[in-house]
Amino acid sequence: MKAQDEGANEVTIFDCIPSGNFLKRTDLILTDDEKKRIVELATKYHEMDHPMGVIAMAYVNSPEGVGCFGARTQFYMTAYGDVNPCDFNPISFGNVRDMPLDAIWHKMTAHPDFKIHHKTCRMQTPSYRAKYIDVLPDDIKFPITVEDVERYRAEHEKAAAAAAGTK
Ligand code: SF4
Repeated sequence: MKAQDEGANEVTIFDCIPSGNFLKRTDLILTDDEKKRIVELATKYHEMDHPMGVIAMAYVNSPEGVGCFGARTQFYMTAYGDVNPCDFNPISFGNVRDMPLDAIWHKMTAHPDFKIHHKTCRMQTPSYRAKYIDVLPDDIKFPITVEDVERYRAEHEKAAAAAAGTK
């Protein structure tokens, strides 16, 4: 394997998590069968007598693995101090220039949608994206606060209800 020839000790395979400039590209999320194929390839490699590790995030972030790390064992802080559940999730729970980090962590981990252990990658999960990503305007600047997401969601639901009422 080329990576091992280059001296790598481990290869991590990240399947697509729509974020940043790819935020709305949910068409790039692998199907369950495609993820299964990656996990099978990683497993096959592990079973070989081979010193290099191969980690498939399709397995790690699955219900059979660890699920989602965000707001459970990790957070991500931007260079500007905004604290998000992870580097792929653009929802901020506060900025360390305004709030102590432990208070932001408490706010994040006490939130009804984040205090529960999510068994899959939130950013790859349609129900999470429907609530936190799909309701955002296309020209939004990130990160966005969780309070602003809730405001956009309320506006989105109001517009949808008004549209349904006109049919
Ligand atoms: S949403 Fe969860 S599983 Fe997905 S990249 Fe972030 S921490 Fe990892």
